[in-house]
Amino acid sequence: MMKNIPELFGSMCFNEAVMKERLPEKTYKALKKTIDENAPLSEDIASVVADAMKDWAIENGAVYYTHWFQPLTGATAEKHDAFIAPAADGKVIMEFSGKELIKGEPDASSFPSGGLRTTCEARGYTAWDPTSYAFIKNGVLCIPTAFCSFGGHALDKKTPLLRSMEAVSKQALRIVKLFGLTDVKKIESTVGAEQEYFLIDKEAAFKRKDIIYTGRTLFGSNPPKGQELDDHYFGSLKSRVSAFMGEVNEELWKLGIMAKTKHNEVAPAQHELAPIFVSTNLATDQNQITMEIMKKVALKHNMVCLLHEKPFAGVNGSGKHNNWSLSTDTGVNLLNPGKTPSENMQFLVFLCAVIKAVDEYQDLLRISAASAGNDHRLGADEAPPAVISMFLGDDLDGVLAALEKDEHYVDKEGVKMDTGPMVLPNLPKDNTDRNRTSPFAFTGNKFEFRMVGSNQSIADANIVINTAVAKVLDGFAGVLEQAEDFDAALHTLLKQTIRAHKRIIFNGNGYDDAWQKEAQKRGLLNLKTTVDAVEHLLDEKNIALYEKYGVYTREELEANYDIYLENYSKIIHIEASSMVKMSQKEIIPMSIEYVKDLCEASNIKKQSSAAVSTFAEDDLAKKLSAQTELVYKATEALEEAVHKAEKMDDIHAQARFYCDTILPLMKALRKPADVIEFSCPRYRWPYPTYGDLLLSVKE
Ligand code: ADP
Ligand code: MG
Repeated sequence: MMKNIPELFGSMCFNEAVMKERLPEKTYKALKKTIDENAPLSEDIASVVADAMKDWAIENGAVYYTHWFQPLTGATAEKHDAFIAPAADGKVIMEFSGKELIKGEPDASSFPSGGLRTTCEARGYTAWDPTSYAFIKNGVLCIPTAFCSFGGHALDKKTPLLRSMEAVSKQALRIVKLFGLTDVKKIESTVGAEQEYFLIDKEAAFKRKDIIYTGRTLFGSNPPKGQELDDHYFGSLKSRVSAFMGEVNEELWKLGIMAKTKHNEVAPAQHELAPIFVSTNLATDQNQITMEIMKKVALKHNMVCLLHEKPFAGVNGSGKHNNWSLSTDTGVNLLNPGKTPSENMQFLVFLCAVIKAVDEYQDLLRISAASAGNDHRLGADEAPPAVISMFLGDDLDGVLAALEKDEHYVDKEGVKMDTGPMVLPNLPKDNTDRNRTSPFAFTGNKFEFRMVGSNQSIADANIVINTAVAKVLDGFAGVLEQAEDFDAALHTLLKQTIRAHKRIIFNGNGYDDAWQKEAQKRGLLNLKTTVDAVEHLLDEKNIALYEKYGVYTREELEANYDIYLENYSKIIHIEASSMVKMSQKEIIPMSIEYVKDLCEASNIKKQSSAAVSTFAEDDLAKKLSAQTELVYKATEALEEAVHKAEKMDDIHAQARFYCDTILPLMKALRKPADVIEFSCPRYRWPYPTYGDLLLSVKE
């Protein structure tokens, strides 16, 4: 049955159309002012909104509401309350007050706060974010909220994200004013987050304890048919996958999320979903909802959606491509090169601002993509290396080089162009000029940051980009506002910026080993692990940046530092413990039994007349015996190290230990176990193999 998509779209979302239709005009206008201009909202107005929201929610099948928020774990949280309130005669009425809409007090003492709540107040509160629409999910009205401590500290990712959006809006406004865009009131950072994921048959996935506990395979030798065939990328969709994608899209459309593109990715069983871009805040909320819905719908279709960054060793990992730009409220994309010389120059200012921001805050960008899971992906296979660099494409590169050297820019047709107030050549927007290996690529009218892990919140990355760009624009505006000769000052500013920061631009193959050496020569950071990266979070230059633009206080950053490292340690702890269990309970016993059977078979053979001088049984038994010995010793060593790690109370030392000691021990255990898997019969190995998993969705 064909569904009416325009009617379906946003039907479970309290969006502008619904507000306009259901709110009294005065209320709608007041709310709109709050959304557009951050104007404070009175409780009276909130009460009217709450009432309308409740009626709308009930009509659409909701009985509960929740303040939906994003604690520092990077996931989402909700606590459900029914709309019911007691009435006379022991009856109930459905009620939802303005107060309940604006503020909530979740019993949230178990969310990580990095010590912020204990030092201020024992509890935190949630505050309505009217700039992200409320929506109905599973019969619950979800109200997007920020989560703060009573001392005013952010305990979530939304608060700093909103602060960073304000910072970049304010500074970008100063720049566009200089270019005559005086009617612009607000500038929004926009994001489209492409999401990669794997789909595995549920029955196969649930036979793997590692997938159940950690979302990735901790053991497993490579399949005979891997991605080397490259026949999966953009290949035709299997019908189960197609049905899944169709349902995911429909669920997202209902919530007003514009999921648009769906296709297969490079690795077998890997796919991608791309939404249409919206404000960074909405994009972050929508991406969280998207991940949740993908997981849920997959189960309904008897599949498991793996969002881990590296579910399979030796196979491409999954990331999120964070497409970022800045847009005025009058609809101008500031990273669009434009057609007139003035638009071109304005574009170059924003382009150079991003270049400088990325170069100066490489460490923060790397931290924003740091997690135990993503460490397996960065630097491995088809994924960006841990070095941050930018790709602009040949044309822009040429333009910047000409600008820097005060030369004419000569385009491909040999036409000379002045670099005074210059006219840009027509920049290609097609895929031919793409460099898929660059972690930070200019793609025609936006930048694509490709380092973020598939399982991570995109909030962190956008907090960094917004704030760092705000800082650079602030500096630029300071210079240009004072200039007596605007054109000359602009020219000098761009020239100096290019000269000082061109080291971050790299157009070659980012996956090439030679690049890492070259990057080192250029003085670029190469922070290989989460711990290496997070160690830079509290560098004074980073604290200064965030404090200056009111995005994070020093205390909040210190709390974030602890939480990043704690999360990292926790994840590796679970993985290491799972490995120990799998090894002790299944792999070692299986292997011992098989060796025993081989020895018995050999003995029988030796006694029989069929005897030959050498025995495959003996050979295999010897080989497996040796590997079993290695597995056993490695398991013991890992178990001992895990116990040691558990007792450490210094957060940083503990994370270091997980990184430098436990991870290598896990590798040491996996290696002989994988040899055993390879050498033992299929029916003896206790788990589905990589081949079984990756090709588990057959039609
Ligand atoms: P590609 O050429 O990379 O495939 P698409 O047009 O498919 O580009 O866009 C990829 C993603 O970038 C989509 O999610 C899209 O909505 C997003 N995007 C496009 N323009 C912008 C913009 N101005 N700001 C933020 N994201 C954008
Ligand atoms: Mg892309």
